[in-house]
Amino acid sequence: MADSPFGVPPAALRTVLLGHPLGHSISPAMQGAAFDHLGLAATYTLRDVPPESLAEAVATLRGPEFLGANVTVPYKEAVMPHLDEIVPLAERVGAVNTIVKSGGVLRGENTDVGGFLWPLRAGGADFATWRAVILGAGGAARAVAVALLEAGVAGLTIANRTPERARRLADALDDPRVTPLALDDPWLGGALTGAGLLVDATAAGWHAGEPILAPDLLERLPAHALVYDLTYRQTPLLRAAAARGLATVDGLPMLVEQGALALEHWTGREAPREVMWAAAVAARDARQ
Ligand code: NAP
Repeated sequence: MADSPFGVPPAALRTVLLGHPLGHSISPAMQGAAFDHLGLAATYTLRDVPPESLAEAVATLRGPEFLGANVTVPYKEAVMPHLDEIVPLAERVGAVNTIVKSGGVLRGENTDVGGFLWPLRAGGADFATWRAVILGAGGAARAVAVALLEAGVAGLTIANRTPERARRLADALDDPRVTPLALDDPWLGGALTGAGLLVDATAAGWHAGEPILAPDLLERLPAHALVYDLTYRQTPLLRAAAARGLATVDGLPMLVEQGALALEHWTGREAPREVMWAAAVAARDARQ
């Protein structure tokens, strides 16, 4: 077998997802399909890392067989001090979701930002005309907020169940366009009235039941508003928004694009997005 351009036999190339606890993930199927399509005999596996082993898990990535890794909850921030370099975008987000090994150096990237923006750009979004509302203030909300501010939105409301967390995120973003609120703040209705985009960046979409936004609040969105849920399946919020006639996007395009960007960092090759999309849809549907 010929050597790979990465200096080790291609069958030995590895990528992993670091997180804890790790349940089901679509990424191994999606990245595996992409590696196969590109003729790279590389693997993408899950590595459940208890907190006391994070430093050791990152050190393992320095082995010659590793191209890099993805990072998920709860390590997107905690992994940063263990890396050699952090790109400016990941510094601004304050989170790394992709580690790239390049010339022996471990570099922290954030592909959630590009992944989130992809379906909006593909749909021809005119960001400067939008006021946006984000529900949630965790790691994903942070990437979404940086993405929307850099894309040039006119205003951004961040509403979170724990209002202190929304305030902390607004402080960190330090941008006059940002307003933090509690999820049950009466001002949220006003923010929704003027919003062109509502993003659900909470984990609520994984649970069946009532939409995260009460029907009277959903009614406040203008008819041209887009409702974007980062959960990569139909959620009660998306169903309610579609029933109201609003345009909707779920989290699968974001998941595929953040994975495609990660693969391009690892391999230097153009990601086969259609192959990754098909594998992601099949893996998601097999789970439902
Ligand atoms: P996280 O850091 O743990 O934050 C979770 C957020 O959800 C917090 O704001 C939390 O509010 C809120 N939340 C959880 N349950 C809630 C409920 N029942 N009602 C209201 N708020 C609730 O997680 P994360 O990394 O930001 O991820 C958030 C979601 O984004 C997850 O569903 C994840 O799957 C999704 N995601 C998708 C992609 C993609 O590619 N499509 C990428 C990244 C993340 P409190 O602060 O009050 O606890």
